[in-house]
Amino acid sequence: MPQYHHIPGGENTRFLLGDGKFQFACHSGVACYTRCCHNADMYLYPYDIIRLKDRLGLTSEEFLAQHTITAIRENPYFPNVMLKMSDKPGHPCSFLSHNGCGVYPDRPYSCRAYPLEPAFSGNGENPRSIHCYVARHGHCLGHQEEREWTAVQWIQDQEMEAYHELNARWAQIDSLFRQNTFGEKPLENPALKMAYMASYNMDTFRRFIFDSSFLSRYEVPPRRLEAVRDSDTELLLLGFDWILRFVGAQGPLEERQMTE
Ligand code: SF4
Ligand code: SF4
Repeated sequence: MPQYHHIPGGENTRFLLGDGKFQFACHSGVACYTRCCHNADMYLYPYDIIRLKDRLGLTSEEFLAQHTITAIRENPYFPNVMLKMSDKPGHPCSFLSHNGCGVYPDRPYSCRAYPLEPAFSGNGENPRSIHCYVARHGHCLGHQEEREWTAVQWIQDQEMEAYHELNARWAQIDSLFRQNTFGEKPLENPALKMAYMASYNMDTFRRFIFDSSFLSRYEVPPRRLEAVRDSDTELLLLGFDWILRFVGAQGPLEERQMTE
């Protein structure tokens, strides 16, 4: 999943980092400070939404309505959720303040990872299979700073590890969605809407689990169910398992045997 901020005005390049180092620093002293927080074309991943809505004290419905747009991008079969920029001149991010990022501890993964672009591979059972690329954007003067980083050092410094299990699982689900699993008119398919809810809208998905026939159809161990009541990340992991089951007919979530 590419994580570029597409801002015109310079040559953009990308290279595989491997075990090497890259040169970068971003701080209030660089002349381009907060430029990338304007008119940004930014994907939000499911765990980003959990972190941000909790920071802002919003429900997932409120967050999605106020701060996101949905768009069909590289995957024609499933919509992406994008961070909505404000309507102010220059279209700054709604979270940008005079002091920089107003949601910094919970800023989206793309914001914290830049210029690193981890690409997850494997089937979700081996989420530590990561290849890291480095993106260079012509407008970004951070690449001219002298500080050097390995991928591991940058991942630690930017506290990215907490995102990796969930992002790796999301990469698995995303690749399933790219196989046109929702038929000829995917965007009109009710199953796509359910998968979208289980990916992005935790409050609605929790109500769906506890208020619909979900628990009579799927085996969810009691301990897992208790965790799901209190934790959006546990709920999201259950959502991924559910999507794997009802979209891909695979994964650990078992359907109950129906009795006569
Ligand atoms: S969330 Fe923060 S770092 Fe990311 S674009 Fe908005 S202000 Fe910038
Ligand atoms: S150095 Fe790069 S990442 Fe930092 S503010 Fe400037 S453009 Fe954005």
